[in-house]
Amino acid sequence: MNLRLPFLKHATTFARGIHPAPHKGTLDQPIKRMPFPRKLVLPLAQHIGKPALPLVGIGEEVARGQIIARAEGTLSSPIHAPADGVIEAITPMPVSRGQWSDAIVLRVYEASTQEVRCGQPQDVAAMDHAQLIAAIQEIGMVGLGGATFPSHAKLNVPADKQVHTLIANGCECEPYLTCDYKLMREWPQELIAGIRIAMRASGATRAIIGIEDNKLDALDAIRPHLPEDGSITMRAVATKYPQGAERMLIKSLLDLDLPPGSLPSQLGLVMHNVGTLALLGRLLPAGQGLIERVVTLAGPGIKKPGDYWIPFGATLRSVLEWAGDPDCIEREVILGGPMMGQAAFSLDIPVTKGTSGILVFDKRMLEPITQQSWACIHCGACVNACPMGLNPSQLGMLSAKLEFDEMSEQFHLGDCFECGCCSYVCPSHIPLVQQFRAAKAFLRERKPL
Ligand code: SF4
Ligand code: SF4
Repeated sequence: MNLRLPFLKHATTFARGIHPAPHKGTLDQPIKRMPFPRKLVLPLAQHIGKPALPLVGIGEEVARGQIIARAEGTLSSPIHAPADGVIEAITPMPVSRGQWSDAIVLRVYEASTQEVRCGQPQDVAAMDHAQLIAAIQEIGMVGLGGATFPSHAKLNVPADKQVHTLIANGCECEPYLTCDYKLMREWPQELIAGIRIAMRASGATRAIIGIEDNKLDALDAIRPHLPEDGSITMRAVATKYPQGAERMLIKSLLDLDLPPGSLPSQLGLVMHNVGTLALLGRLLPAGQGLIERVVTLAGPGIKKPGDYWIPFGATLRSVLEWAGDPDCIEREVILGGPMMGQAAFSLDIPVTKGTSGILVFDKRMLEPITQQSWACIHCGACVNACPMGLNPSQLGMLSAKLEFDEMSEQFHLGDCFECGCCSYVCPSHIPLVQQFRAAKAFLRERKPL
């Protein structure tokens, strides 16, 4: 029986958006594992909220899975050691987005194995709500889709709000990235276990797994594990960028409009990425901390493209020494997908909880595209592409005149979530999204504290 057609027939979507070439050449391979590098750099702020507080000192030996920094308060998350080794330093190190952050530097023992030597299995079903939320925080779980919001805080719905539906976001609409797809295909049982945990923690009575209709293998892998009571269902949504954005997926699945600046809980919803839920379903019952994640390695500058379990703290340099193409000398390294990811300013930046992909391009190939732009020809392509219904052309012209206040007050710059659709379609190659990021940064800086 062909169970695919009903999903395809009802694939729903949102207004506007784009169809970039998928470049998902890593789709067919199973997840593999990168060996431990000699050194791991573990930033204390790998999440939204207060940085973790170190519990170890220089020269101290640690075991794989051991908690080495504790959460500081409610909106914070602990850090666990990804390998056996000795603490070498606690010092500022470069992290993504051009920043530096205090980090624990761990020298990995050559004999360190993949065995996790800390953490005890725990009876999740016997936990009350407060214990469940505390246990989710204890394992260091954060949103692995890139947002890195602590999962326990997201699932702990405020008393004045009520959540009825959990949305498991399996869209992975960014070109190149396949790490979520692999977890849906290889860990469907863990995904369903994680969804059940997240439903209990948030109070949701039903869950919908939203998957783009170019990932039918994932639907097939999950289907046998769905509960018979219908509390967890799957829905295919159209393959379109940025289908995985919170607002767009809510529109596609439920035909609801989330007002800009509001949280899904306002509509009785909570959304989690499928990778986060699969890891939650695996680690929480085992009582083990989050110490590694699946990262997509792709692009012309990667010799071994694929999806790999990579320990947190592995620097880009160590990843590229192992998997990079040595002939690609002038590298442009992107952390995340090509649409919303960030160019890495240093190869000393480590893989952290929010690193979904490492894409490597040859700068010489990119230069003809990125170096030259022309005047706006008022073609309207950016307006037709913007999923937020903004006028990127007008915003771009105001940005060129440094009229940031007008961008914000008259043309809703704050609603732009930097998806990059406008830049992608612009025939004049105007770096619109970069201009919008700069304008927002200026307005943020100027705000009185
Ligand atoms: S980057 Fe902003 S303005 Fe451009 S398409 Fe996306 S939301 Fe619209
Ligand atoms: S797509 Fe580019 S050229 Fe066309 S209206 Fe927008 S900014 Fe102007």
